[in-house]
Amino acid sequence: MKALLLFSGGIDSTYLLHKLLAEKIGKRKQPNPVQKVVCLSFNYGQPHADKELTAAKLITDKLGVEHLFEMLNFPFLKQDMTGNPVVPNRNMIFLSVAGAVAQQNTCEAIYIGCTQSDFEVFADCRPLFVRQMNEAMLLANGVHVVAPLVGKTKKQIVNDGGGIDWNQTWSCYAGEDEPCGDCAACKERAAANV
Ligand SMILES: [Zn+2]
Repeated sequence: MKALLLFSGGIDSTYLLHKLLAEKIGKRKQPNPVQKVVCLSFNYGQPHADKELTAAKLITDKLGVEHLFEMLNFPFLKQDMTGNPVVPNRNMIFLSVAGAVAQQNTCEAIYIGCTQSDFEVFADCRPLFVRQMNEAMLLANGVHVVAPLVGKTKKQIVNDGGGIDWNQTWSCYAGEDEPCGDCAACKERAAANV
């Protein structure tokens, strides 16, 4: 099976990419193990787009993974996330676009790196949301939505991802050259000892 991975170049999706490449994960409810991974990243006018997408591209280049980019030009998505990291419906929009991209690229599943650490703040990372999106996407595009990290915390991911160079990942929302150390993403990294 060919899989499409929503890839931000942050800790969670980078870990998931390595997992998919290393283990060729096949989950129940899915027809086949993953044989090929294609990454999909979004430029949605986020202030940290340059840093995030550059980091993402370096990672996939290094791993020799096909990498697609989509530009989303919705003013409401261009939010300063250092104050409030929740951009309403962001994952719903990402998944919706990914459904079309997956269908056009003959990918049978979309992988998304939602973790247990996201549940409290991000409604569109919770298991029930992922399950419902899976149902909707199967109806609309014949594509599964899979979130294999929902049972893991960011700390567990970092501990488990021993061989991954986290320095090549980018999380900060501020859009500066160096991580601000103060936004929600920077604080999560610090809490996970990255
Ligand atoms: Zn930051």
